[in-house]
Order: sequence, then C-alpha cells, then structure tokens
Amino acid sequence: MKKTELLAPAGDLARAKTAIRYGADAVYIGGQLFSLRSRASNFTMEDIREACAFAEEYGRAIHVTVNMIPHDEDFEGLEEYLKKLEEFGVKAIIAASPAVMKLARRCAPSLEIHCSTQMSVTNSCAAKFMHEMFDVDRVVLARECTMGEVKRITKESPVETEAFIHGGMCVNYSGRCTLSNRMTLRDANRGGCAQSCRWQYHLYENGKELSSDLLFTAGSKDLLAAKHIYDLMDAGVASLKIEGRMKTEYYIASVVSAYRHLIDEIMETDRPLSEERLAWHTKQIMRGENRETWAGFYEEKPAENSLIYHPNSDANVNHDFLATVAEYDKDSGTALIETRNPIDAGDEIEVLSGTMNARTFRLEWMKNEDGEFMEHSRRPMALLRIPVPFEVRKEDLLRRAR
Ligand code: SF4
Repeated sequence: MKKTELLAPAGDLARAKTAIRYGADAVYIGGQLFSLRSRASNFTMEDIREACAFAEEYGRAIHVTVNMIPHDEDFEGLEEYLKKLEEFGVKAIIAASPAVMKLARRCAPSLEIHCSTQMSVTNSCAAKFMHEMFDVDRVVLARECTMGEVKRITKESPVETEAFIHGGMCVNYSGRCTLSNRMTLRDANRGGCAQSCRWQYHLYENGKELSSDLLFTAGSKDLLAAKHIYDLMDAGVASLKIEGRMKTEYYIASVVSAYRHLIDEIMETDRPLSEERLAWHTKQIMRGENRETWAGFYEEKPAENSLIYHPNSDANVNHDFLATVAEYDKDSGTALIETRNPIDAGDEIEVLSGTMNARTFRLEWMKNEDGEFMEHSRRPMALLRIPVPFEVRKEDLLRRAR
C-alpha cells in the first residue's frame, strides 16, 4: 500500500512541534494574515520559519493556509508573504481563491498549491479543472463527499487528493457560510468565524418562547472516520487530514498519536482492521475527543443524528490531561512535571510519549518545589517531583482515565 500522509493542525509553534513529535507527517498552520482562523493563529513569521526548521529536522513538512476569500484590499502584502513562505521552506500553501493560486504560482513557484476544501471539490471534473486552470498540485476534497465519490475522484484526478478524517464539521458547505457575518459582523471566509451555529438559542414560535429550558444549537457532531481509513488509503488518497487549529496541545498529541498507530497498523498488515482492533483504535482516539462524533458523509447523507441539538458538554471526555514532563532524572528515577489539572497520590497515570505506545504506572508519591510530600495537587502550572518506573522524556504528557 502506498504511504499515506497524516496531516495535523497546529495553532501555534508549540502545538506544531507536538504534532510532529506525536507522528504527523505534515502539519498545517496559519499565519496571522491571509488565513481562515487567523484570529486563533499565533504564528509570527519567525514562528513559521522555526516550524519549517523543526519539521525539516524530523523529515516532515509544513503547509500554510492562505485560504481566506480575498477582497481587493486583502492582496496588500500577499506577494511578499508568499515569497517568504517559499524562502522558509514551506512545502505547500492551502488556497481557496484562484487569484491567490495564480499569484503563488507566479511569485513563489516552488510552493505546492493545494486547493482548499473551501473550493468544494466534489467531483473529478472539478479536480481536473483546478489542475488545468490553476496548476494545483493537490485537491482537498469537500467534506461532503461520500466514500464512493472520494474513490472515483481519486482515481480520475490528475493530481493527488486529501481527505478529512477527524475534527469539526460545518453545517454549511465547509465554511461557505455567512451566519457569523450576520450575527457578529465577523467574516467567516476571512478568518473570523464565531461559530454561531454552536451558540445556544432560545426557541420562539409566534413570538412566544417554547420553553426557557429548551435551548437549541445547530452545530454538527465532529467527524471520526477511523472505520474508513483503510478504504481511503486503499483508494490512493495521498493525505489524511485532522481538523482543529484551535485545539489544545493535549488534543493534538492524543488524536495524532492515535491515528498514527492506526495508519501504521494498516500499512503493516495491508488489510482492513478487525472489528476488535478498530474498536481499540477508536477508544484511543476518543481519549482526546470531547465532542460527540459521527462518520461524516462517507457512509450517509447527514440526518438529524449528525447534529448536536443540545448545549455542548464534555460528557464524552474519558481522560483528564494532568501534566507535561519538564525533565527526567535517570539516577533517581524521578520526573519533574508541570501540572495542568488536579493530581492525587495513588492515581493510575498513563504516559503519552511521541509515537511510542502509552505506558501506565501508579503514582506512589509527589513532592512540591520545597521538597515537601503532598497527597493532592490542585494548582495548575505547579512543578512537582514524582517517581516514574520507566524513562520518560521532556514534553511527554500525563493523563488519567476518568
Ligand atoms: S458558523 Fe458554523 S457553519 Fe458557519 S462557518 Fe462557522 S462553523 Fe461553519
């Protein structure tokens, strides 16, 4: 089976490094300009340069979203920006505008151009058109494609395809939505989506509120396509993409690592996963996911079971992110950790470590910075010394099952 890229999101430099450490083949990021989600992006130009250098060290790649729908005034500075990306060693830009694609091909010719999902490519004719007219190197398929459509487009497309496997979905056509513009004056297609579909709304009929207890949201459940990964890989899809540039470091580490193991297992066995193995991998993925999920359009057109009608909760969270490892001392067999959530002596702790399998241990004791033993730690960002019965590495993550 051909090697398939695992493409992960990152909202800042730390998360880009995490994605790479935890097994992403490529990471897509957004600069502070010209990108959707630009409000969430913390990548300065210097950060983009550093992300490229870090990726190169690991033999991985950085893609940069330049996927706003630009109006005339948005082009100011774009040419210089694209040239800088090329100079830094960015592999590809993800663009949603023919004008941006044309400009990139002219001024930064070594950048690959990936046609964003915002272009809603749902058929092979569109893929051919994007390649012939705008010389794109890859099309990111619309999330609204069925598995049959993904297979057909991938077979007939003159360029490689990329498909989403995990993360948030729009209830409109992949961001082609002006709900946020109307509700908040923030342009969803110029980086400002306020996710108005996920707000909680009071329902009225003929001017009368139906029930003050009955709040309504129209957000989609998140995509979780684990059971379709074999088919996507077998169809020849070049890249499997996780959505979520606004997600936390813990989410990135958990979800990327889980899909890394799943993809590697399929690569090794070259056959679909058994029911049992699929259930195991899905459980690993769900350790980072905190929203309800569905398999997207791959197997069915969306029905009411694809939406979250009630206010969101973290009821699906099955693990708590406890701490990151700051250092490990081999001589004493102890680690210095920086806490994120409450920890108690006696907790059963799982270590998430790059692409290695997770390992667990029982926390025998912990000491604060003054060397005093503690039974409980409740303060985030506290530095604690704990014994760990195997070697761990800086940046490893500690979590506990609920
Ligand atoms: S408001 Fe919701 S449907 Fe519209 S672009 Fe934002 S996330 Fe998508």
